[in-house]
Amino acid sequence: MKHLFLSALSLLTACASTGATADPVFFLNGEVRQGEMLFGFATPESKVTVNGDTLNPRKDGWFALGIGRNDDGKLKFEIEKDGKIFTRSFTIQPRKWRIQRIDGLPQNTVTPTPEEEKRIAAEMVMARDARQKNVDMEMPLCFSMPAQGRISSVYGSQRILNGVPKTPHNALDIANKEGTPIIAPADGIVLLVHDGMFLSGKTILIGHGQNVVTSYIHLSQINVKEGQNVKKGEEIGKIGMTGRATGPHLHWVVSWKNKRVDPSVFLKNSEKFCPVQAEK
Ligand SMILES: [Zn+2]
Repeated sequence: MKHLFLSALSLLTACASTGATADPVFFLNGEVRQGEMLFGFATPESKVTVNGDTLNPRKDGWFALGIGRNDDGKLKFEIEKDGKIFTRSFTIQPRKWRIQRIDGLPQNTVTPTPEEEKRIAAEMVMARDARQKNVDMEMPLCFSMPAQGRISSVYGSQRILNGVPKTPHNALDIANKEGTPIIAPADGIVLLVHDGMFLSGKTILIGHGQNVVTSYIHLSQINVKEGQNVKKGEEIGKIGMTGRATGPHLHWVVSWKNKRVDPSVFLKNSEKFCPVQAEK
């Protein structure tokens, strides 16, 4: 399957570079549905917009595009090449989400005081600003799991904390014992390091280019500094339970612009770009 995908890809890329008058090549790797991170391709040097927003493809034509958990309606693409405009339209498919009840959290983290609310809001702005920092690199296409462990909470669940409905869980939780290494899932640049956010505890944000950012939350240890380049597979920190957590786990967020996407689906779509492993 991977072989097929990659050979189709090289064929399309070859066509794209020779057919000067041909229509541009355009396709999406992934499903157009809530929480998805799509990897799309458009003939290099075309201008691509979706619902009026300009996308930012790599030089070879690949781009990332996130769809939020609650997004609906259509994605209308315009691909402009050599003065001609081509359009493609897709309807965002809905997904069903789990409901997850968690009791026994310290009540002050579920209903913070006004002072704490202020701190949480300021830390959210800090993270949002970090996500918008310019990342001077092209996004790698092959990402891997950042830590080993048990998936203790999936993306999208509606959370009811101590009986109170809260914002959905927009991340993947990987539970393992404190001190378990966390590695960079792909090359990137460290956008933010924080030693103790109210909810997130010790936190790292890594930019990978093409507006893709990954976040690492509740760590017990941080091994990197802001502005540092990290290589895929490099240890960036260790699993912990700092901030709001009931046990040691990595709360892993994958985002595109300010949309959080499903990390499992992101990895699945990304896997197709990973070099084919030696078969057993
Ligand atoms: Zn989590």
